[in-house]
Amino acid sequence: MESDKKVIVQSNWKMHKTHVEGIDWIESLIEMEPEISPEIELIPCVPLTLLPAIAQAAQSSSQIFIGAQNVYWETWGAYTGEISAPMIADAGASYCVVGHSERRKYFGETDETVNKKIKAVIESGLKPIFCIGETLGEREQDITEDVIARQVDAIIKAEGVASLANAVLAYEPVWAIGTGKTATPEMAQETHAAIRKLIADQNADVAAKVRIQYGGSMNAGNAADLLAMEDIDGGLIGGASLKAADFLAICQAAG
Ligand code: PEP
Repeated sequence: MESDKKVIVQSNWKMHKTHVEGIDWIESLIEMEPEISPEIELIPCVPLTLLPAIAQAAQSSSQIFIGAQNVYWETWGAYTGEISAPMIADAGASYCVVGHSERRKYFGETDETVNKKIKAVIESGLKPIFCIGETLGEREQDITEDVIARQVDAIIKAEGVASLANAVLAYEPVWAIGTGKTATPEMAQETHAAIRKLIADQNADVAAKVRIQYGGSMNAGNAADLLAMEDIDGGLIGGASLKAADFLAICQAAG
């Protein structure tokens, strides 16, 4: 990991937690914060129903920033059921996940709609957490780097490479999400290095600044080895972060 940027450890709650459960989680984390290195940014990405309350509860912390899990690309209008990036920022978020593989799989998101969302997120002042990754079939066909290049190139073409300086890229092999199968540290490092090179070919400064986190069945047992790799700047954790104490253990493994 590069020493001049903060490691980012994200807890993706997905569609979990009531108000009481969410408040209990964030209050527990705040209580345990002295046990976590101040050099780590902690990003709970919470359901929208909980966002204002969790953001309010985290205000006393200097290292917890709240994220949303999805966004619509228009700013206002007759889009029943959708939430825009300015609304998410107004609710207290600093980050927004875009293009998670569950959204690509279950809700028909494509590179094109993901790009529109990233643009909207950047324009609203939120930082995007841009998820990319290959399916099992794509890995077996040995086209992981082509898939990653297609996903990253699409946003570079649409928004310019400088737009990535403040973004977080989340490399999440689709076959590793929620399956208990994790990429080996070497396998993840190889893809992270390829992603950074792709960006460096356009702008070395942005490549050095962008944080690339790994996601896919990360847990307290495998986090330290993954996070020790040179190009892995953090973790995106789903299932293993739903209990605050488990999330703490992963944060402690991060440094
Ligand atoms: C995720 O939600 O992006 C994720 C990586 O989930 P899990 O840790 O459960 O695989």
